[in-house]
Amino acid sequence: MELYGDVRYLKGIGEARAKLLEKLDIRTVYDLISYFPRAYEDRSVIRDLAEIAEGETACVRAAVISTPLLSRIRKGLNLTRFRIADDSGSAEVTFFNQPYLKNQLHVGSRYSFYGRFQRFGNKLSLQNPTFEPADGEGKTTGRIVPVYRLTSGISQNTLIKSIRQGLDSCLEELRDLLPAETIRRYDLPDIRRAYRSIHMPADMAEAMRARQRLVFEELFVLACALGSMKNQRRSEAGHVIPAPALEEFTGRLPFELTGAQSRAIRDSLADMASGSAMNRLVQGDVGSGKTMVAAACIWAVCRAGFQAAFMAPTELLADQHFRTFSTLLEPMGIRVVQLKSSMTAKAKREAVERLALGEADLAVGTHALLSEGVEFPRLALAVTDEQHRFGVGQRSALAAKTSAPHILVMSATPIPRTLALILYGDLDVSVIDELPPGRQKVDTYAVEESMRPRIQRFIARLVDEGRQVYVVCPMIEEDEEGTLDLRSAAEVYEQLRTEVFPQYRLGLLHGRMKTAEKEAVMASFVSGEIQILVSTTVVEVGVDVPNAALMVVENADRFGLSQLHQLRGRVGRGKHKSYCVLFKGKGGGVSAERLDALVKESDGFRISEEDLKLRGPGDFFGSRQHGLPTLHIADLAASLDVLKEAQAEAERLLAADPSLEKHPALRQRVESIFRNAETG
Ligand code: ADP
Ligand code: MG
Repeated sequence: MELYGDVRYLKGIGEARAKLLEKLDIRTVYDLISYFPRAYEDRSVIRDLAEIAEGETACVRAAVISTPLLSRIRKGLNLTRFRIADDSGSAEVTFFNQPYLKNQLHVGSRYSFYGRFQRFGNKLSLQNPTFEPADGEGKTTGRIVPVYRLTSGISQNTLIKSIRQGLDSCLEELRDLLPAETIRRYDLPDIRRAYRSIHMPADMAEAMRARQRLVFEELFVLACALGSMKNQRRSEAGHVIPAPALEEFTGRLPFELTGAQSRAIRDSLADMASGSAMNRLVQGDVGSGKTMVAAACIWAVCRAGFQAAFMAPTELLADQHFRTFSTLLEPMGIRVVQLKSSMTAKAKREAVERLALGEADLAVGTHALLSEGVEFPRLALAVTDEQHRFGVGQRSALAAKTSAPHILVMSATPIPRTLALILYGDLDVSVIDELPPGRQKVDTYAVEESMRPRIQRFIARLVDEGRQVYVVCPMIEEDEEGTLDLRSAAEVYEQLRTEVFPQYRLGLLHGRMKTAEKEAVMASFVSGEIQILVSTTVVEVGVDVPNAALMVVENADRFGLSQLHQLRGRVGRGKHKSYCVLFKGKGGGVSAERLDALVKESDGFRISEEDLKLRGPGDFFGSRQHGLPTLHIADLAASLDVLKEAQAEAERLLAADPSLEKHPALRQRVESIFRNAETG
């Protein structure tokens, strides 16, 4: 077997199981052994049958003392039953619908059994236990046993056994990606040791050490990847855009720029005038006015005779920005086109043609901008909005359209500085830490279900005053269990429309609607036609309706804290006093404590710091809010300290070996990260 060979050739896997494993993203033996346990069960203690209490889950070592009997109860249900005994006592074992076991368990032989026991008086019984011969090396009993996330058709035992087999045959081929010096400095186990320990630790401490080491390695590889991307782009020459006198631009704005906006613009213009390619992240809370920074850069680039591209994550946002830029920039002589998937083929062709001929200066759109055939002969600036929605790969894909355009990315995801260091390791950062003047704080309330009638009266009052209202419901995943108490956006909409607010105009917006439908609904909300918009989190990012004064969130416990902050940012964008009401729901996600943080705090960065304190960084990686390649193990166990250490080690290594020439295995992995990010 080879490490990167197909898993189907492992003993006991074959075609059928290989197909199922693919659902877990397991294709090669390497994938298989890199499928780490989500938890462990301690089956290391062997118990006496006589001591086991009702309801206990335990491991015993006992002999089969009666011939396994198969009985058919009814169609589709048969039982295999027999008795087992150790020195202390006995128990009855029952298996459901596994008739073949009758021939696998032999009277007089000893096995280890693991399962949940039931006891009625002195009658002890055990159903569907895991078992294996007592004399072999324990794989599933008598030790700490890994617990893997499963997919149907693949059992824990199958995974345990095939991973074991993969380790036995291929472990030697694993290469350490951490430099020897780093391993020494942090006293980490080597890679083979770590792989063995994480799957079959002798004790929990060993499992934790292995995990720490693998987390370290994953973050280290990521930091190397981002670091080398930064180095690479640093050394690229960029189009020189002479920095214009900013007054020419600001003179046309209906407002004064804030100090933070001016600073970010000056930084960016200086980058673009420098001769090397700009790589800048503009990070600012929702409503802080990031769009103006982009507008100023676009203006500078276009007036110098170059083209710019502006990419937004959703069609809704692309539309909104198209309107903003057309209104602002067309009068300055900048020709703006739109490009998104939902346009007619003809409209698309026209836009593409104008870009190719240099008859358009700015293209605003979605990832359709990345499509093949879209060419910008004079592209000098690529802007991505709400960049966390895009993968690192996509970010670089836009850049790859021509040689080294300047890159500006904007994000409202307030990421604590410590994490930003890793997540945006390849970018320079401008922080917009100041809101435009006159913004009012959004009054926020976390309320119980009993408050619903009052909230409904409040909604009615605001609508009667001419304001608009959002009602946001959590996304319900189809195969999720236990969601019965969660109301979908469609249900909430129906009920509000027919029973609660028949006198008002309501609209419904959710992710599964066709783009054209979504656009129509959003357009009627923007125009004020729709008074109450019931929606899923599609409205989360960037949508700007200044007349909206109330954000109601159903089952707020289902959202992340930063996500709730984003939602709240949809209101309070105009001159009207605005409110955010969070229905607490029945718990499960955000705790009461965390909702309180949101009620008290309106600064996105401080909220994210709070979130980090309460949840640890795992959630930031887990929530896919960062646009990085999926992390395998760091989601589960990363700690901030490890993050910082891994970053420091990566910097140290890149300083000594910028192109990773002396570390070919690491270099290969770094390259594969970006390949995967692009397809993913
Ligand atoms: P975000 O940072 O969330 O992308 P936007 O760029 O959409 O924020 O700006 C939010 C709103 O604030 C817009 O309506 C915009 O016109 C307005 N705005 C931006 N800058 C200023 C400013 N300096 N003074 C007043 N209003 C501003
Ligand atoms: Mg925005």
